[in-house]
Amino acid sequence: MSLANGREYLAIPGPSVVPDRVLRAMHRAAPNIYIGELVEMTHGIVRDLRRVARTSHDVAMYICNGHGTWEASLSNTMSRGDKVLVLDTGQFGRGWGATAQGLGIEVEMLPGDSRKPVDLARLTEALRADGDHRIKGVLAVHVETSSSGRCDIAGVRRALDDAGHPALLFSDNIASLAVDEFHMDDWGVDVMVSASQKGLMVPPGMGFVFFSPRAARARETADLATPYWDWRLRARPEMFYQHFGGTAPTHHLYGLREALDMILDEEGLEAAWTRHAALARTIWAAVEAWGQGSDVALNMTDRAARSHSVTTIRMGEGQGDRLRAWLEAETGVTLGKPLGAEMPEASGIFRIGHMGHVNAHMVMGVLGAMQAGMIALDIPHGAGGLDAAAAVVAAG
Ligand SMILES: *Cc1c(COP(=O)(O)O)cnc(C)c1O
Repeated sequence: MSLANGREYLAIPGPSVVPDRVLRAMHRAAPNIYIGELVEMTHGIVRDLRRVARTSHDVAMYICNGHGTWEASLSNTMSRGDKVLVLDTGQFGRGWGATAQGLGIEVEMLPGDSRKPVDLARLTEALRADGDHRIKGVLAVHVETSSSGRCDIAGVRRALDDAGHPALLFSDNIASLAVDEFHMDDWGVDVMVSASQKGLMVPPGMGFVFFSPRAARARETADLATPYWDWRLRARPEMFYQHFGGTAPTHHLYGLREALDMILDEEGLEAAWTRHAALARTIWAAVEAWGQGSDVALNMTDRAARSHSVTTIRMGEGQGDRLRAWLEAETGVTLGKPLGAEMPEASGIFRIGHMGHVNAHMVMGVLGAMQAGMIALDIPHGAGGLDAAAAVVAAG
């Protein structure tokens, strides 16, 4: 007998839960790629991707995962020997920096703390220190999926402006698009990257790079651009083939169309942001109660710097690994592994993904399973976690 039999829940920070409706939209014969519905649909997808990003700028669509968009964002804007400043928020910030380095870009890291928000004063200082403006881009991760920290992207823009620095502002919204509030244009972001498999609720396989007119100008001199990643033709939906650099991701487009309808026209983007905020608070409330008199703790101590799409939890050495294994075997819930070598006691750390097609009963189910696991495994924890979570759900 196993209580894990039944519908499993992959509660990891991507790939996220794919709605049955999105799966059904994808379940079809290969569509005509020359004329008709698919071609027409692409125009609306571009318009709606802009709405989700709160931008009037261009978007290039790729058949790739998030890592591909990192490379696309840099190769279209940089030349060999250019320099970028990377905010070291954790695994993904450093990963983007490593991509830059691999392309031949010089990388300066702004040291960070994986439990604290980005130090904007220190950022301003680093930018002011770059008097001859060698830094061409600042790379910030909106939601750093390893730490579950959220970067104040508008604050990064202010730091650039305060320092009078012309570098392009890059934002990685792979984990956060359609989850955490974001305004590409109002916040002065030049290049934003995202992917299909997290807040957008579509299987992995599509990547998106949004770029401002300033970034488009940088493309004209960027010598790292290569044919596949060149964003110029991809930003023109009237050129359907060039848009995808070859065969279109036909079924993903149908899935994405359905997901965008759900987000924008049915729920509403702001309502989706609010739902994710409430679900995140539900998890925080449980963890804070469990943490009374125990080692259980949220990785991000500062509430304002916590993402609404993923939560990183610490439990003391070994306990995170034990809990994940138990939940998988006994409850049908899969939690996210720890990421980030900088984190001491990685075996005590795990993550819950709560982005996209997730609601209150799913979050309460994960929390209930976690409490059962802590009881079964004798992991010390404070009382009242589920009561605290239920109170947040009850308050709406
Ligand atoms: C998931 C993620 C990535 C990587 O995306 P892949 O599709 O796995 O390549 C990059 N950055 C952030 C913030 C992410 O959450």
